[in-house]
Amino acid sequence: MTRIINFSAGPAVLPESVLEQASREMLDWHGSGMSVMEMSHRGKEFVGIAEQAEADLRELLAVPANYKVLFVQGGATQQFAAVPMNLLRGKKSADYVNSGEWAKKAIGEAKRYCTVNIAASSEDQKFTYAPPQSKWKLDPEAAYVHYTSNETIGGVEFHWVPDTGKVPLVADMSSHMLSRPVDVARYGVIYAGAQKNMGPAGLTIVIVRDDLIGGALPVTPAMLDYKVQADNGWMYNTPPTYAVYIAGLVFQWLKKQGGLKKMEEINRAKAAVLYDFLDQTEFYLSPVAKSDRSLMNIPFRLKNDKLDEEFLKQARQNGLVELKGHRAVGGMRASIYNAMPIDGVKALVAYMRDFQGKNG
Ligand SMILES: *Cc1c(COP(=O)(O)O)cnc(C)c1O
Repeated sequence: MTRIINFSAGPAVLPESVLEQASREMLDWHGSGMSVMEMSHRGKEFVGIAEQAEADLRELLAVPANYKVLFVQGGATQQFAAVPMNLLRGKKSADYVNSGEWAKKAIGEAKRYCTVNIAASSEDQKFTYAPPQSKWKLDPEAAYVHYTSNETIGGVEFHWVPDTGKVPLVADMSSHMLSRPVDVARYGVIYAGAQKNMGPAGLTIVIVRDDLIGGALPVTPAMLDYKVQADNGWMYNTPPTYAVYIAGLVFQWLKKQGGLKKMEEINRAKAAVLYDFLDQTEFYLSPVAKSDRSLMNIPFRLKNDKLDEEFLKQARQNGLVELKGHRAVGGMRASIYNAMPIDGVKALVAYMRDFQGKNG
């Protein structure tokens, strides 16, 4: 068996030890005689798995007691609608920061439900930086402020937490959730699809402050109503049981690595391997403002884009896959989530150096 070095933006690489454990437990989970996939979500085995997963996630992120953690479906995209439906609470508008492709999608969806005020935007420079707080025009009457704390496609990360006063702050953390500690108390809602940095597709995590639960628009589908999900211990209907189980194994793996502080150190070291290389070559270009570079998603370009196809082809031959940038921006992108070992990043840089030597 050969495991390839996978730079996919999502679904993405998972820790090998997690996949091995899942494979050992596939036919018979802990003597139950069943696969987790075959278990009733209301049976004691799965309820135990679910409770452990939620407890581990709470511990990793130090989630305060006045927040609910919900394991739901529909992806981050579904939350683009669920957030306004739950948080408008009689208000007519919400503030959004337009920092890239995912922010644009969130804005588009929110416009179905309310007036969207663009509090700040980086569109003027093709979404290559995080608009600084000093440029934000916040409306104190807004229902909430939404931002995309890591733009997966543009590779722009907010390395600071916005101050929105009394207005609840909402963050789409899909692509850097669990990559470093987060002060959850600064947020009203945090949401993230699991398939970037936490587990398989099909699971979405929502962390919501208690006082923001219970005011959903009357038309809100039960499945999207945070109160329905919270009151039913996120088992109003069948949750994505196998995805919950795998994410739970990832949470345990993260605890074994030493938790999120340790992951941040590792992730900084990993990203530095690639950024340091990009900074000392002119063969490759790094489009993102240095202060706002993502530790998880690293876009880069070849100065001569005629070499793009050849770069990708030879990368593949070297066991380095999924390096093509998103179709919205082109170029290359290396996603180096928690489960990407530093040796994977070093192998990429070695290949890039070699390619440059032959073509520069
Ligand atoms: C991938 C991604 C999404 C969309 O996630 P789905 O789970 O496919 O709905 C939204 N926001 C960000 C920042 C993402 O990276």
